Amino acid sequence: MEVRRQIEVSGIVQGVGFRPYVYRLATGRHLKGTIRNTPAGVTIEIQGPAETVQDFVEHLPAEAPPLARITCLAVHDVPCNGDQEFRIVDSHEGEEVRTLISPDVAVCADCLAEMFDLNDRRYRYPFINCTNCGPRFTIIRDIPYDRPSTSMAVFPMCPACLAEYENPLDRRFHAQPNACWECGPRAELWDKSGRKLECRDPIAEAALLLQSGLVVALKGLGGFHLAVDATNPAAVALLRQRKHRVEKPFAVMVPDLQVAEEVCELDGPARTILQSMQRPIVLLKKKPSIISDQVAPFNRYLGIFLPYTPLHYLLLAEGGFKALVMTSGNLSEEPIAIDNREAVNRLDGLADHFLVHNRDILLRCDDSVVRVAGGIARQLRRSRGFVPVPVFLKDNQPSVLAVGGELKNTICLTKDKNAFLSQHIGDLENVESYGFFHEAVEHLERILEIRPEIIAYDLHPNYFSTKWALQQTGVKLVGVQHHHAHIASCMAENHLEGRVIGFALDGTGYGTDGHIWGGEVLIAGYKDFERAAHFEYVPLPGGEAAIREPWRMAVSYLAHHFRPEFLKSELLKFDIPFVRQLNQAKVDLLLRMIEQSVNSPLTSSCGRLFDAVSALVGIRQQVNYEAQAAIELEMAISESEDETGYPLELLPNGPGWIIGTRPLFVSLLNDLGNNLPAAAISRRFHNGLVEGFVQLATLLCNQTTLRRVCLSGGTFHNLYLSQRLETRLSDVGFEVFVQKEVPSGDGGLSLGQALVAAATMQP
Ligand SMILES: [Zn+2]
Ligand SMILES: [Zn+2]
Ligand SMILES: [Zn+2]
Repeated sequence: MEVRRQIEVSGIVQGVGFRPYVYRLATGRHLKGTIRNTPAGVTIEIQGPAETVQDFVEHLPAEAPPLARITCLAVHDVPCNGDQEFRIVDSHEGEEVRTLISPDVAVCADCLAEMFDLNDRRYRYPFINCTNCGPRFTIIRDIPYDRPSTSMAVFPMCPACLAEYENPLDRRFHAQPNACWECGPRAELWDKSGRKLECRDPIAEAALLLQSGLVVALKGLGGFHLAVDATNPAAVALLRQRKHRVEKPFAVMVPDLQVAEEVCELDGPARTILQSMQRPIVLLKKKPSIISDQVAPFNRYLGIFLPYTPLHYLLLAEGGFKALVMTSGNLSEEPIAIDNREAVNRLDGLADHFLVHNRDILLRCDDSVVRVAGGIARQLRRSRGFVPVPVFLKDNQPSVLAVGGELKNTICLTKDKNAFLSQHIGDLENVESYGFFHEAVEHLERILEIRPEIIAYDLHPNYFSTKWALQQTGVKLVGVQHHHAHIASCMAENHLEGRVIGFALDGTGYGTDGHIWGGEVLIAGYKDFERAAHFEYVPLPGGEAAIREPWRMAVSYLAHHFRPEFLKSELLKFDIPFVRQLNQAKVDLLLRMIEQSVNSPLTSSCGRLFDAVSALVGIRQQVNYEAQAAIELEMAISESEDETGYPLELLPNGPGWIIGTRPLFVSLLNDLGNNLPAAAISRRFHNGLVEGFVQLATLLCNQTTLRRVCLSGGTFHNLYLSQRLETRLSDVGFEVFVQKEVPSGDGGLSLGQALVAAATMQP
């Protein structure tokens, strides 16, 4: 008996080879019917013997093309008709076709095989791609996603490419960036002043330059990289010096999994994520290897990734490189350069040569960075490969634009059940990043067709994103507290409702009392929160300067807890190495600032507590990049069985608690006095925090009966703290939720802001 079913598929199912896939799936089973694109995705009508139709429906999601992402599949019975075959049909006239746009992904195995096949017409063609791979997001100018609205518009397809493009059974059916030697983009090698160098093979030539220790700027998918040979210490040092990047680790591209195994410790999940089509940078434990120590000094981890463009593969193979440093083509924290001429100007003095091409990048997109914990990848920077795949939400949302924070900024647009986070935009205090912020808002609103009714912003009056938001008119503006946004972000990606106990630990966030928050425990829902507990306030002497110079925080804590005995020069009587090496004049000045409350805002920051401890144990007095003191303190943790932890005290504070740090410092100073090594002290410090937090969560659970705990904020990039706390909380019966899809740091803030602002619209 024949049946006919209508299947509505939503998600990322357009421009990813979904219709040809369904065509093959149907015709292979001799089924009849149609498939067409719809605003939500695709609609399939499938007709044939009941059993075969059932089999088709079951196989449909399982074998979908790699770039497809099905979010919903609804099946209904419909009456049979006289269809004699299976056809791909046009969308209904007047029906707005809008769909999710796919991210840029790594070149697929089929394309790679063709590229290295001497007999293939795309042999060694550096821009080979198909429906299953290549650029998408970064080449889109407008929607609908068709070749004329991409940067491929200037390359008319040759007859051979066009035939592939028009054939539903071809791997390149409707592959918008389809191209070949005949009709597509080409690579060129330029000298440092942007003059084209005549050479037969620019990629081979660039490989020679890299081998000789020079810095080559490479145009990739989402922007330029600066590359040097990672096994050549002099080349790495040269890049550091030119980029003014003193110690911040560089990421390294290795040719294959085998080399990855040689340089880092890999487990199954790490191998999977390294090879995934998103190809993020994965932070992995370093092994002693041929990679220069200069690449990631004072760090036990190394960020590695596999090649993801055909050009990368050609370059690595050509030079026989074991590892190339591949760092964003920019000066320190500026946005990554994307345009050829822009690169020559902005990377002036940084790169010796430029390996460019003439396929324009329309939207910059940095590499994504993840780390693997508990077998699951967790985002540290969500960008290329992931954006603009939405975070799928539990419930429909109004259209909100959330503008994020100040550092590691991302923005978020919501529509229906989708939250679209932008790529990593960067630190907005930088003029160029601020420009990029504008671009991203405008571009995302256009390609996602979202006209926000609400704009959500951080409460910090000096954030550029906040100032921008407050200038917008004709929309509802909603200010969202920083740590509330962190917890809401964690709730949103975990589809939680109701209220949770939220640990929001980070460096800086503007509090509702005007102080700088950062060690916050909230009882929160989307709509509102109570500040259930926070670290005790200490002065941040010198404001921003205290963030750059952790020794200031150490002095601040000592003065705070042990005054009056250790005030002013008295502090120098404290007989530990940290105090002995202090500059008395500087300390006196600092203590005067604190005493007179001059430029010494109060903070409950967890990040600053880490800074203080890092300085006290002699690890880091000044930082060269954000969170360096805390990161190196984590890296120092001894691999021992020591379960000792420095105690915290919980002091009643109205209906909530203050997390007192005095006993912690008493024990720590005691250990320092007994010459316990920094490694052991760091471990005890981390252990103590975890025990204190578990105790606090238990207290709050008794008060509120809440058993769900959300962990968010940049401090949870600390793997030791994060994993130990998750384990201990679970052990005592809590349900623990962490951030995986979006960063727990400020890169994930915009998601939480959007959900909080949307909740305020509900009655
Ligand atoms: Zn491909
Ligand atoms: Zn062609
Ligand atoms: Zn934060």
